[in-house]
Amino acid sequence: MEFHEIKSVAGCRCGEIRFNNSERQKINTPACMLYTRGGAAPYLTNELTEDFFDDYAGVHVTLPTLFQYPGPDVLQTYGKGISEFLGIQKKNFVFMSVYDPTQEIQCSYNEDKNVSVWNSGGRKKINVDQFIEILKSFKPNIAQCLCDTVPSGESCKRNRKSVDRTLKFLDELLECRKNSDMLKSIEILGSVEGGDSETERVRCAVETSKREVAGFVVEGIEPSSQNWEELLKTCIKNLPSDRPRFFPGPMTPDHIFSALECGIDVFDSSFAYEATRRGCSLNLQCSSKRCKPELNHTNDVTEKCKATQSKELEENISENIKKTRFEMNIANIRYKEDFSSLVIGCSCYSCTNHTRAYIYHLLETKEMLAEVLLMIHNFHQYFSFFKKLREALNNDTYETFKQDFLRT
Ligand SMILES: [Zn+2]
Repeated sequence: MEFHEIKSVAGCRCGEIRFNNSERQKINTPACMLYTRGGAAPYLTNELTEDFFDDYAGVHVTLPTLFQYPGPDVLQTYGKGISEFLGIQKKNFVFMSVYDPTQEIQCSYNEDKNVSVWNSGGRKKINVDQFIEILKSFKPNIAQCLCDTVPSGESCKRNRKSVDRTLKFLDELLECRKNSDMLKSIEILGSVEGGDSETERVRCAVETSKREVAGFVVEGIEPSSQNWEELLKTCIKNLPSDRPRFFPGPMTPDHIFSALECGIDVFDSSFAYEATRRGCSLNLQCSSKRCKPELNHTNDVTEKCKATQSKELEENISENIKKTRFEMNIANIRYKEDFSSLVIGCSCYSCTNHTRAYIYHLLETKEMLAEVLLMIHNFHQYFSFFKKLREALNNDTYETFKQDFLRT
């Protein structure tokens, strides 16, 4: 796997990731992968995903949502790998990450020899040998190496330890890979760790670049933390330009613009899933076509909560606080009799067939179809945003596109 830059605009890399496989697959960047849980797009069947989306680059599967079920034992018996097991189309690569980007980073459970991965069944410690067995049975096309990710705010000692452990895991995996044809067929990405320590980030980036990795995953930098752009730039400055850089995590469009300008190539679509979980519909049109957010929204929910003291509503509030200006809360009473589509002008299935009032009704009655329709729309908006971004970069209209988009 190699990265070929076609042009660079305002620091953004516009190019192609070329695979060395027999089909000579390539992906245009900036690219966005399909975020999955348990190997499927959240709330959607494979048929719906295939029918409605074709402009995402690859499928992002996460270890926490797969290690328990189906788990490596089932896949080892099956023998053909996760892609075929899940019915993922051959044209899409499968990228496996160690963490789920929608989960909080819990680094205190990681140890020198293993990393803790969490799912609904609890915690599972995974060491390098187990990770290698997982890779051999899952057979993803691209895999992030086992890593000790720490969030910002950790001590210098902990940040240093995260780099030491991550490099040790990588060396052990690469050593084993030399003698295994199966492992050689998987492109291994090295993680750039180090928390918010610039020194450790540089050390990790420089050391990882010296190893035989196909690309890099910049981990543990949250766009909500201070100086995240400077930290990201520091990492990228120390990475070679001929290999792709992945940056998983829920990202709003303004964060995507910033990360792109730092030199990131590949993102995932977990932000669209988080918006759906909040009962929100994304509106990623340029600013002039975007609905204004509901000004009374949070107060409205607070009042309701006071009245009922319901725990569920309290949880809703904490979710709603995270709501960004690119989302409309369709559960708001103002949409009860609103017969327009989620986003006027959106060509997705949900918008061409249903109204805000219908989806409001589905949310009120807790029908799962609400999430299905919102997920179709939100993925459509998110992937279309990336498509417009690539077009703007190719047509030299990036600055105008960005200004139009971010204007409030
Ligand atoms: Zn739509």
